[in-house]
Amino acid sequence: MALRTIRVEGDSVLTKKSRPVDKMTPRLQELIDDMLDTMYEAMGVGLAAPQVGILRRIVVIDVGDGPIVLINPEIIESAGEQTGEEGCLSVPGMAGTVTRPEFVRVKAMDENMEEVIYEGEGLLARAFCHEIDHLDGHMYTELVEGDLHKVTYEEDEEN
Ligand code: ZN
Repeated sequence: MALRTIRVEGDSVLTKKSRPVDKMTPRLQELIDDMLDTMYEAMGVGLAAPQVGILRRIVVIDVGDGPIVLINPEIIESAGEQTGEEGCLSVPGMAGTVTRPEFVRVKAMDENMEEVIYEGEGLLARAFCHEIDHLDGHMYTELVEGDLHKVTYEEDEEN
């Protein structure tokens, strides 16, 4: 398992546009594996390649139903609206209210560079939108209604 350093807000890599992937390589496969490890270690539900300093259009997501890897993802349809709390591994300890579509359909490639279509509702739709925004250099903080606030995590008590 290899963890990468998650870049935090203020790092200019997070404001840049990522380049599409045209073919899978061992190096990119290693990046994807490391992104999954890094996301799980940080207990996030999604991570985009620019968040680990790599400007390529790659996203990993797991909202609790298993890992999803998206290469060159695009939102091809969206519907409805949801307003709720959102956070980002690049803005640690903070959250804010963001309105997103309730449903999105995403077209992407998988790790074998085969076309895949995903449909997401609720949290998954939110994760698709949030992570794909990172590939264009956008952060959820641009969309927050009102102020960001601190989130406190309860420590696990092992006894
Ligand atoms: Zn994020």
